[in-house]
Amino acid sequence: MRKEYDFSKMKRRYRVASLIKKYPKIFKNCKTIQTGNGWYWLLDKLCAQLTIDSSVCKYPQVEAIQVKEKFGTLRFYVKQANPHAYGIILFVEGLSAYICEECGSIDNVVTTKGCIKTICKPCLKRWKNE
Ligand SMILES: [Zn+2]
Repeated sequence: MRKEYDFSKMKRRYRVASLIKKYPKIFKNCKTIQTGNGWYWLLDKLCAQLTIDSSVCKYPQVEAIQVKEKFGTLRFYVKQANPHAYGIILFVEGLSAYICEECGSIDNVVTTKGCIKTICKPCLKRWKNE
């Protein structure tokens, strides 16, 4: 019997690896990102801005210690950051409440009750059928 492969997990692993590889200074001590695929573009923009702030503005390098979803929003915990970086991180964490964690869409996004998840209606329908 042929083994079934879960391509969605493979894709997720690849995305995690690519972000960690793309921003080695930020992810020096953080080797996993525990969120759905939909927030990767948001994380990419956040890391790009933090990298520019560090290299161009000479702000201290931000180092992530944990990146995950909690209560339906992104959490980007850092070792240290100046008030400017904290502001950007808080803003991006707040934005995640309006972006589907599964596909990245900003249309028809809802927050589920109970096991809180920020998800668009089409993804919610697929999620409930799994
Ligand atoms: Zn979605």
